[in-house]
Amino acid sequence: MRILLLEDEESIRGFVRINLKRNEMEVTEAENGEDALALADSEGPFDIALLDVMLPTIDGFEVCERLRAKYPRIGIIMLTAKSQEEDKIRGLELGADDYVQKPFSPGELIARIKSLHRRMLPSSSLEGDEHGSEEDERGNGLSEQQGGGTGEPAGHTDAIKKLYVERELVSGRFRLSVSERRLWKNDEEIILTPTEWTLVRLLMEREGESVSRDHILTEVWGRYYVGDLKVVDVNIRRIRQKIESNPSEPSVIETVWGYGYRWKRSVPE
Ligand code: CA
Repeated sequence: MRILLLEDEESIRGFVRINLKRNEMEVTEAENGEDALALADSEGPFDIALLDVMLPTIDGFEVCERLRAKYPRIGIIMLTAKSQEEDKIRGLELGADDYVQKPFSPGELIARIKSLHRRMLPSSSLEGDEHGSEEDERGNGLSEQQGGGTGEPAGHTDAIKKLYVERELVSGRFRLSVSERRLWKNDEEIILTPTEWTLVRLLMEREGESVSRDHILTEVWGRYYVGDLKVVDVNIRRIRQKIESNPSEPSVIETVWGYGYRWKRSVPE
C-alpha cells in the first residue's frame, strides 16, 4: 500500500512514518501542501493520502479538495487537530473518506487506513473477514445460478470468488460493477470516491430496504469505528449531488426519517 503523508510537524511525521512502515506500507512524505500536490503527480499513484489540516501555506482542506478533483479514486484521511465539529465535516464535504483526530494512537490510525483500503479493493467484501460467511452465501448462490466453475484450474473457492467479483448490480437506470468498482447511470459513468462507491453498493444490494445509519457506518467504515454518524449523512449528500437529477428532492436514495436511507426499488418504465 502506498501512502502520501502530509504533515508539517517533523515529530508527528516521524511517529506516523514509523508506524506505517511497521505495517509494511510505503510512505512518501510532504511538509507542505504544495509539495504534497506535486508529489501526487510525480510519484503517484498513491492508494491513500493522510492530510494534516493546519499547515503554514495552503491548508489540508484545500489539498484535499484539489487531490479529490484530480484523483477521484484515491483514499483520503484527514488528520484533524481541532475537536470542532465543523472541521471534521468540512473535510468530508470536500471529499475526504475519513478523519482521525489528534492525538491518535498508532493502532487507531492503522485500523482506519486498513478499513479504507478494504473499501478500495475490487475483491473486498464489506468489512472483510467479519462478514465472511455472508459473502460465502452470496457467492454460492451465484455459482449455482451460473452452473459453478469457470473452467479454470482454480479451486472451488476461487471460482466462487471470481463469480462474485464479476457480479453486477442493476437497478433502474443504474448499473454497478463489483469487479471494476464503477457505477453508470444511463450508461454514463458516475465517478465515485471509494467510500461513496461502497455506500452505493451497500444500498443497491438492499434495494427497496431501509438501511439504518448505524448499520451503514459499521458496514462501510468498520465495526470499530468511533466517529460520528454525520459521516454517513455527508457521504449521502455527496452521492446525491452526483446521481440525483434534483439533489434537494432525491428520488433515488430516500431518507428514512429518524432511521437511515433506502435505495428506491426501481419500477419498470
Ligand atoms: Ca500541522
